[in-house]
Amino acid sequence: MAREYDVIVIGAGPGGMTSALYASRANLSVLMLDRGIYGGQMNNTAEIENYPGYSSILGPDLAQNMYDGATQFGAEYGYGTVEAIEDHGSYKTVKTDSETYQAKAVILATGSEYKKLGVTGEEEFGGRGVSYCAVCDGAFFKNREVIVVGGGDSAIEEGTYLAKIASKVTVVHRRDKLRAQKVIQDRAFANDKIDFVWNTSVEEIIGDDMKVTGVKVINNETNEEKVIDASGVFIYIGILPMTESFRDLGITDEDGWILTNDKMETKVPGIYAIGDVRKKDLRQITTAVGEGGLAGQGVFNYIESLN
Ligand code: FAD
Repeated sequence: MAREYDVIVIGAGPGGMTSALYASRANLSVLMLDRGIYGGQMNNTAEIENYPGYSSILGPDLAQNMYDGATQFGAEYGYGTVEAIEDHGSYKTVKTDSETYQAKAVILATGSEYKKLGVTGEEEFGGRGVSYCAVCDGAFFKNREVIVVGGGDSAIEEGTYLAKIASKVTVVHRRDKLRAQKVIQDRAFANDKIDFVWNTSVEEIIGDDMKVTGVKVINNETNEEKVIDASGVFIYIGILPMTESFRDLGITDEDGWILTNDKMETKVPGIYAIGDVRKKDLRQITTAVGEGGLAGQGVFNYIESLN
């Protein structure tokens, strides 16, 4: 028989853990399911300087603090990759690779993943100069030279953001024109701190024992190779929502991001979504946590309405 809970939270990142805290503190039985260790993307983050209450904290430490808070009122954490959710109106079935659960409400908090270049040095220098988030890491590169890889909206918007902090931004793009919206392009072209290197791909991220020192690039037309010096490399070649298992619920847009209202409700009653997996502008710990609070309270109201 399926194990039953009031609420199942899928994903134990900052959003999921906050929703579990709110729901369990409202005396609901809560299970957080994650395909890895609790903490989500915070486990891959060295220093966090923009989470209120801490001038600086290591990602895994913040994850542990949030977990301790999330479980203090009885919320449980379980290991499992969720492969399907079925909506049966007043209850939902959640299937992992090994078990089936039942809940009155489900909160989807499965986050997103940045696409990787897949070049030598990318993994090795992660957190030591390689970044996928200017808002998260830009401040570490004050008055230094950085490289932005990509040509879409995110690459150019974040490059413009970085130009306010870094001494110089070099945008490396594999084509001869940008994909970003014209207004975003125009702003970047007018910024004299931003340079563009066209028709060029990154071959390798290079560094010393400690950190990134530059990137080795190749011109796709001439095959000419060169090294561009930089302290940071910001990679913006795409970001993927972790929603493959939920596509048949009909709650995502054409790119797979989950659509909600401002109460974090999807269009399926009793199914909520929070954090990076939502279609939204700012994917950060603070926003995931705020949305977690809303959904944690929202499921309480929803379950009350079933009685
Ligand atoms: P996530 O943290 O992504 O957690 C989602 C969880 O869902 C994961 O644990 C995953 O294992 C699980 N999951 C996914 N699919 C399934 C499934 N099918 N079944 C079961 N479990 C599943 N933000 C800041 O505010 N400040 C920073 O300094 C900062 N630095 C960052 C540095 C890096 C390197 C990265 C990658 C991100 C950084 N961020 C930062 C962004 C921040 O970490 C995210 O915005 C935040 O973690 C999103 O929280 P979330 O709860 O939505 O999802």
